[in-house]
Amino acid sequence: MAGCGDVSMKDLAIVGAGPAGMAAAVAASGAGLSVVLIDSAQRLGGQYFRHPPEGFHARRPGALHHGFARFTRLSDALGPGSGVEVRLAHRVWAVEKVAGEAGDGAVAVHCLVGARDERRETVLARRLLVATGAHDRSLPFPGWDLPGVFTAGGAQALLKGDLVVAGRTVVVAGTGPFLLPVAAGLAAAGARVAGVFEANGRFGLAPAVLAHPGKLAEAAGYGYRLARHGVPYIGGHAVIAAHGQGELTHVTVARLDRHWDPGPGRTIECDALAVGYGFVPQIELATQLGCATRAARDGTPVVAVDDGMRTSVPGVYAAGEPTGVGGAELAEVEGWIAGRAAAADLGGTVRPAPGLPRKRARLSAFGRALQDAYPVRDGWKGWLRDDTPVCRCEEVPYARIKEARVLGAVDARSLKLLARPGMGWCQGRVCGYAVSCLAGEDQQAPRRPIAQPVRLGDLAGDPPGEDPR
Ligand SMILES: Cc1cc2nc3c(=O)[nH]c(=O)nc-3n(C[C@H](O)[C@H](O)[C@H](O)COP(=O)(O)OP(=O)(O)OC[C@H]3O[C@@H](n4cnc5c(N)ncnc54)[C@H](O)[C@@H]3O)c2cc1C
Repeated sequence: MAGCGDVSMKDLAIVGAGPAGMAAAVAASGAGLSVVLIDSAQRLGGQYFRHPPEGFHARRPGALHHGFARFTRLSDALGPGSGVEVRLAHRVWAVEKVAGEAGDGAVAVHCLVGARDERRETVLARRLLVATGAHDRSLPFPGWDLPGVFTAGGAQALLKGDLVVAGRTVVVAGTGPFLLPVAAGLAAAGARVAGVFEANGRFGLAPAVLAHPGKLAEAAGYGYRLARHGVPYIGGHAVIAAHGQGELTHVTVARLDRHWDPGPGRTIECDALAVGYGFVPQIELATQLGCATRAARDGTPVVAVDDGMRTSVPGVYAAGEPTGVGGAELAEVEGWIAGRAAAADLGGTVRPAPGLPRKRARLSAFGRALQDAYPVRDGWKGWLRDDTPVCRCEEVPYARIKEARVLGAVDARSLKLLARPGMGWCQGRVCGYAVSCLAGEDQQAPRRPIAQPVRLGDLAGDPPGEDPR
């Protein structure tokens, strides 16, 4: 793979500037490492710390932001003189081990920089931390491709990052506690939230929440905010279809049995639907390097790490959602651990911090309880009709998936070869989970080899300026 553009050598390259990556950068630079912190976004913070454009907080400090004080502390610690070079708007599409002079486990991080006419840039580092977070887990259902239907994370990102409210009357649906901040944020921003429909039970996480005073306070806060805006929070129900001519006008909500097979539906009028069934960790950069994975509770592949967040590949670390979905606090703790471990492994002086592994163990247990309380049940497959698009990029309807199964497709890869789901622009990022389930796979195999969409010329390593499009 040809490297080009600006080549520099750092002790540690961190991909992802969310809670995990920011904490790791502060920890590693504090221990004397030169660090480059890379993110595709325009601003630091990742998902949890996502914040509105410059200037907004001068008028309303901390508004529409989670953990503002923590974020400010971390971003201040990454300022000039910190030894951290921050490179924003850098999409990392590939990483590879470098042999030769840079050797000793060094890694080349290949980025695309800018908006339309992206230029290539390669960063060399002695160590790599993958802190790339997660993306929304989507399930297909009739009408999910209508304008007005958002992922829950997408609706949240629009609100927190761009001050855009998804609609005037919004339904929030799916599973998991993340639905609560989404609904509370939309209601506070002026939307009428017609209901939060949780496909599992409402109180499945209650025992784990009771054992964590911080989480209890957070849950109570959301409960209060929803009640204040008169938003009903209803368990055992899901949006099984969205309707409208050209744009969303109403949804069908049905009660689910314990397999998620739906009973009779009722109609709710709305112009926006925010729907999310948890998160899928982004592990492509780690698997490109051959890092071992393990199956999380729900079968999703995550990067396997040791107590220092070291992966199975020497010199490569992972922290935050790529090692398992558990929330921002866990991601941050893992970042501290990873940054310190990288510094120690490179011979830096790191004072012991026995509280960190304990905190990680406690928060990881909460993450596992979360996955147990909010599983995705098989009954959603019964919500599909033959014409329901499963892969939106390649416009593959459910009927074609069924045909491919009859023809002998036994996993997502063979389904892709026979029917093309996951073959388009997003490379299965949106439909990958559903396609795996429809293929009958118990555990999804990591299989997206390239982390970001990339032009053929960049893939082939053409000299800059020679755009073969
Ligand atoms: C859309 C969305 C919205 C969310 N909103 C909330 C919320 O409001 N409240 C809440 O409690 N939890 C929220 N979560 C859950 C949240 O992701 C985590 O709890 C927490 O942010 C995880 O921290 P992290 O550092 O592991 O990853 P993230 O915060 O996700 O940070 C990962 C960073 O890596 C960057 N990145 C990923 N791949 C690449 C690449 N190839 N090249 C360059 N950069 C890359 C991303 O741009 C991102 O900034 C949200 C999740 C998603 C997916």
